[in-house]
Amino acid sequence: MNNQQPLPSRTETKPSGPKPVDVFADVTWSAGDLEHASATQIIDYALRKYGDRLGFMTALGYSGIVLMDLLRQRLPTFKAYFIDTGFHFPETLELLERLQDAWNVEFIRLGPSLTGEQIDSIIGPRAWETQPDLCCLYRKVEPMLRVLETKDAWVAALRRDQAKTRSAIAPIQLDRRGTLKIYPLARWTAADCWDYIRAHDLPTNPLHDEGYLSIGCTHCTAPVTPGDDERAGRWQTSGKTECGLHDNG
Ligand code: SF4
Repeated sequence: MNNQQPLPSRTETKPSGPKPVDVFADVTWSAGDLEHASATQIIDYALRKYGDRLGFMTALGYSGIVLMDLLRQRLPTFKAYFIDTGFHFPETLELLERLQDAWNVEFIRLGPSLTGEQIDSIIGPRAWETQPDLCCLYRKVEPMLRVLETKDAWVAALRRDQAKTRSAIAPIQLDRRGTLKIYPLARWTAADCWDYIRAHDLPTNPLHDEGYLSIGCTHCTAPVTPGDDERAGRWQTSGKTECGLHDNG
């Protein structure tokens, strides 16, 4: 299905910036130390410290592709949780199938416990228009909560430059639910990610080429104009900025 050749072992193109520290020396490094570590050092730290108790969830945005590529270089196989709301773009699901076949990743698709009809009966039809927070709660957050406690920490591809709501994230932090989150790409920019993607010829969602910089459900995703926040195309008809999966405050 995928014509990509296996990628050779390689070193990370990024980072620039502060001098990296040797996190291999001691897996008890603090959050402050990790602020100055490279993405690969943070990932290695997390894998050494949490092993199978480290979870990874992705919506297959371009940052997630970068993170998944860094993970797959270090793991013979790994699982990636993907929340399937039933409203994903066909391009997103095609990318998932392509990566499932070509990469050493097993996607676990999590859906809501309730059917669409049951959700509609509780919060109303087309709730993405009237009550998007509740719609995300039933269709995204509830599936996530079912697996959240199965892991000690979660690694995700959030970056500070994606939106004002993410500008203060730390490479490792507790979110407001008390879940330990690890963001190896926190200091990366969009340009860093695209440089990495091009350098390693990674597959991405073709919708990115049409201005969809952050891609979620069809009902709540639109292209952005140059200069906008990366996530400006999400929930454009409401003031909502986050789906609730990353409750960083
Ligand atoms: S992103 Fe939109 S359609 Fe998807 S769960 Fe949230 S509100 Fe509903």
